[in-house]
Amino acid sequence: MKICVLPGDGIGPEITAEAVRVLKTLDLKLELEEGLLGGCAVDAAGDPFPEATQKLAKEADAVLLGAVGGPKWDNHPRELRPERGLLRIRKDLGLFANLRPAILYPELANASTLKPEVVAGLDILIVRELTGDIYFGTPRGIEIRHGERVGFNTMIYSESEIRRILKVAFEAARKRGKKVCSIDKMNVLETTQLWRDVANEVARDYPDVELSHMLVDNAAMQLVKNPKQFDVIVTGNMFGDILSDEAAMLTGSIGMLPSASLDEKNKGLYEPSHGSAPDIAGKGIANPLATILSAAMMLRYTFNLEEAARRIEGAVKKVLAAGYRTADIYEPGMKKVGTREMGDAVIAAL
Ligand code: NAD
Repeated sequence: MKICVLPGDGIGPEITAEAVRVLKTLDLKLELEEGLLGGCAVDAAGDPFPEATQKLAKEADAVLLGAVGGPKWDNHPRELRPERGLLRIRKDLGLFANLRPAILYPELANASTLKPEVVAGLDILIVRELTGDIYFGTPRGIEIRHGERVGFNTMIYSESEIRRILKVAFEAARKRGKKVCSIDKMNVLETTQLWRDVANEVARDYPDVELSHMLVDNAAMQLVKNPKQFDVIVTGNMFGDILSDEAAMLTGSIGMLPSASLDEKNKGLYEPSHGSAPDIAGKGIANPLATILSAAMMLRYTFNLEEAARRIEGAVKKVLAAGYRTADIYEPGMKKVGTREMGDAVIAAL
């Protein structure tokens, strides 16, 4: 089990160090090798995704990433920006499925802007298609027609693209609550009529998983009205872009949210949903839990080590129940800890 670790910039090195310590505690046969991605790679090698990192990422079974970016590189030309490295590694690895859980631990229910009873105990997984849809469809552009500017894009999905992302969702549901809700807009968009038809076809191979369908406008409402009705949500690139951010914000705590992006063979890139937080970098106060939970997702989805993944998630729950809080999720009466101490607490709970 080869893991390429890319700490990146800002708080990246601090938070990945804790995730690596947690992984090492589990006594699995993991080979970890570090590489450079983002601003640090621009500084060291003049390229945000240098050749050595490309090789490392290709040869690994999974990539654990911290975060990239920071004000130091904001004025660089586009190809020398840290974020460019991120786009390139995602493309290079052919990652088409983005998995973003939105989990709200009961202890953190006050962090949400919604009423605690609506969100406490929330545990949903959004599966978003990442490489197709209107974001990549052609023809696209802005041109003059009949004397005025017209902008246009193409929403397009092939049935093979739909089938492979639906499969990811059904497989994920099997490891969770066994419910998939597929989101579309089939009442007005033919592309998503096909999406719905293919979803129904794929469902026949998963009789143990319940499939439902919902129109995207209703899904946006249901996510804030009664989010706990969902288990796995699967949708296309554009709807997923919007709904996954909406779902993430239900939890109110960005330092807690992991993510995974998978290819066809379950090779994955695992990273926290937040950025490099330059405002708190180097202070030892960043919340490492999103990265630690990303490592748990890696064990689950790439290495099929469900029990080890649950051990990490269980340890995080224990630590929160015991009152440990980094500054971003601190409430009076709790134990305020730094990045390293939070890592220590998770390891002790393990
Ligand atoms: P950000 O997520 O880095 O920070 C937003 C706010 O959340 C900040 O106040 C930050 O201190 C806080 N925060 C984020 N993660 C935290 C953690 N683990 N613990 C405690 N507090 C945390 O977003 P931003 O400020 O918009 O972007 C900063 C830089 O990160 C930019 O250069 C941006 O391009 C980059 N970025 C990278 C990624 C990525 O690597 N995937 C994603 C988003 C932004």
